[in-house]
This record gives sequence, structure tokens and C-alpha cells, in this order.
Amino acid sequence: NIVYEIIDLQKTYSKGKKVANEGINLHVFSGEILGLLGPNGAGKSTLVKQMVGQLKPTKGTISLYGLDVSKHSKQVSRLVGYYSQEPHAISSLTVQEAILITGRLRGMSSSDAKRETNYWLDRLELGEIRTKQLKRISGGQRRIVGLATTIIGNQPVLILDEPTNELDPIKRKLVWDIIRERNRDYGATILLVTHNVFEAEHVVDRVGVVKDGRLLVLDSVGPLKKLV
Ligand code: ADP
Ligand code: ADP
Repeated sequence: NIVYEIIDLQKTYSKGKKVANEGINLHVFSGEILGLLGPNGAGKSTLVKQMVGQLKPTKGTISLYGLDVSKHSKQVSRLVGYYSQEPHAISSLTVQEAILITGRLRGMSSSDAKRETNYWLDRLELGEIRTKQLKRISGGQRRIVGLATTIIGNQPVLILDEPTNELDPIKRKLVWDIIRERNRDYGATILLVTHNVFEAEHVVDRVGVVKDGRLLVLDSVGPLKKLV
């Protein structure tokens, strides 16, 4: 069962004619956790931004459950929870409002959204800052709120772009537990972008290595140990 099918994808940024992705072919299968590993500037974020429809491919196609991503942005946003590296740019919403509103936008009833919001505030230890505005909390706290807004609504696909970056070890472990749980207990298909090899080895089923805009997919994480 194929969730994402990417065929011969290329992305060239108009500014500077920078080729950020080239010749990328990828199948993401239902129920897997696929890691995307690679150094800074390799082209990982460019790839996932195209997968969620935030950037238009220069060449090639991306389909999600058979839908062309660049033509079905509404459906894509209903199916995919996306965690970007810049979650919640400065906003006046409070922590709990941001989570609740996201749940409502994804079609949850008011009472379900409230219950889920309370659950994630508790689970992610955000209770004490629930009424603080996003612009008044720390970058690390904003990342955790970003994770809550990614997950709420039980999306079948999660695309997480370096969700554990700059988190303390305890929070990082909590995020790993949540990722595995979404996959195992809720059947979510997950794409996890990371430059942390330990994270890839411990969380993902399969891994793709991105380098200089190109992607090499490995069948298991075993060969990673030889590459690094
Ligand atoms: P597109 O090809 O999608 O139209 P552009 O080249 O026009 O993209 O750039 C989109 C935005 O990204 C612009 O606001 C630009 O200033 C910014 N940008 C340009 N270079 C970089 C870079 N190296 N890294 C991150 N952002 C950049
Ligand atoms: P990664 O996520 O692996 O760190 P990116 O996809 O962010 O890599 O960047 C890949 C390449 O594309 C880099 O050389 C980066 O500077 C460039 N780039 C990223 N965004 C833009 C942009 N908006 N405009 C121009 N170049 C960009």
C-alpha cells in the first residue's frame, strides 16, 4: 500500500538557480516510519515542503494516495500533519488556543478538540504555560506546541522535520515515544527528518539518505552504521 509516490522530482530555487532536489524517486508505504537523514543543506526540507504542497516541484510528480499534491492542497492538509522547522512564528494566540484551533480546523467537534487539547497539554507538560501567548514562550516550548498542533486530529500521515532538534534529552525521549505510539497504536505513516543517526537507528524502519539534493533509500537502518 503506497501512501506517497514521488517520481523524478526536481526542485530548483529561482533565486541563485540552486538545484536543491534532483532525480528523486520514492515510495512511502502505509504504516512505516521512514527516516530521512542527511547533513544541513542536503535538501531534506525542500523535499518535505513539496510533499506537503508548500513548494511547487520544478519537475516531476508527487502523489499522495493517488492525488497530485500540487493540485489538491485542501485534501493534503486534511491527511498530513506537518511539523516544520519553524513552528508557530510569533503569534498572539495562547498555547491552548493554538492547539484547540488546529483540532477544530481539522474537523474535530468542539468537545473532542477540547479533550484532545487537554490531553496533549498534560502529556507534553505544557499545562503551566497553557494561557501564555506563543510569542512569550521559549523556542523549545514553541517546538513542543508545534508537535501538539501536528498531532492533534489523528492525521493518517505525519511529516516531522527535525522535531527533536534542540530539545533536552527527556523531551527528546518523550517525542520518540509519541512517534512510535502514533505509528504502532494509531497506524500513522510517518516521515521523520533528522540529522541524528542515533535517532534514525532507534525510531525508523527504513531510511533515506539525502546528499547534494539526491536521495538513496536503504531497506533497513543496518547499513547506516557503515556510512557514518
Ligand atoms: P521559489 O523558487 O519557490 O519561487 P525563491 O527562490 O523565490 O523560491 O525564494 C523563496 C524565498 O526564500 C524568498 O523569500 C527568498 O528570499 C528565500 N531564500 C532565498 N535563498 C534562501 C536560502 N538559501 N535559504 C533559505 N531561504 C532562502
Ligand atoms: P536541509 O533541510 O537538508 O538542511 P534545505 O532543503 O533546507 O536542506 O536546503 C537545500 C539547499 O537549498 C541549500 O543549499 C539551501 O541553501 C537552498 N535553499 C533552501 N531554501 C531556499 C530558498 N527558499 N531559496 C533558495 N535556496 C534555498
